[in-house]
Amino acid sequence: MKYIGAHVSAAGGVFNAPKNAHDIGANAFALFTKNQRRWEAKALDENTIRKFKAACLRYNISEKNILPHDSYLINLGHPEKEALIKSRMAFLDEMQRCEQLGLSLLNFHPGSHLKKISEQDCLKRIAESINLALQQTSSVSAIIENTAGQGTNLGYRFEHLANIIEQVDDKKRVGVCIDTCHTFTSGYDLRGKNATETTFKAFSNIVGFEYLRAMHINDSKVPFASRVDRHAPLGGGEIGWPCFEYIMKDKRFDNIPLILETTDETLWPAEIEQLNHWSSTN
Ligand SMILES: [Zn+2]
Ligand SMILES: [Zn+2]
Repeated sequence: MKYIGAHVSAAGGVFNAPKNAHDIGANAFALFTKNQRRWEAKALDENTIRKFKAACLRYNISEKNILPHDSYLINLGHPEKEALIKSRMAFLDEMQRCEQLGLSLLNFHPGSHLKKISEQDCLKRIAESINLALQQTSSVSAIIENTAGQGTNLGYRFEHLANIIEQVDDKKRVGVCIDTCHTFTSGYDLRGKNATETTFKAFSNIVGFEYLRAMHINDSKVPFASRVDRHAPLGGGEIGWPCFEYIMKDKRFDNIPLILETTDETLWPAEIEQLNHWSSTN
């Protein structure tokens, strides 16, 4: 079965996110468990946790289909010691918040070398950061997102993801989230069925579908291989509908959260309906 949702608002409290997802016809969702542009966050209190779990039950959304995203400030591959420590502490806090909420996935962008260390060194730091966080938690998995390769962000080659996973000790608690917009703008074509098939064959060979724990379903405002991260509504960008139809009709994308981060929220119900239509005609 396909589980489709969007990155919904948690304004007013994380317990509002399940209803926001339900209201757009979603049976999956993504959220921030704290303000994503700040380092500090108030700890989650018992009441908030209880209300969040109750709302997930009420709207029948399983924790397996909920994909929290960490703060944009965190860089797990930071070249400088103090900043790296700060990022690692914030990441651990995000992982612990997920565990408190009963969630099993945390989605994050791997990190950036800032032109101060090599790609290999940066990937090693990222893997070490993941190992440290996994050692201090027990039930949440680290879900690495592929990137567009903007600036000095790593994770824009499938080989980067494979390299990080290889260096993570607990393979059962590491996985990847593939963002279609990032995949396309980083240089893997998704225009049409054949190109999409070729790209996922490469993913299968280099990373492996056993590590695919989530998808971000976005079209791209910017051209192929531009290494720029600009999302567009489905069918309204450079990728086009056939890629999304392919994903919905392919069983390898079953039973993981498929999350829209498209730019026009008013289109989310229609986008979800179209995706569901293809998965049901599968
Ligand atoms: Zn994404
Ligand atoms: Zn993006």
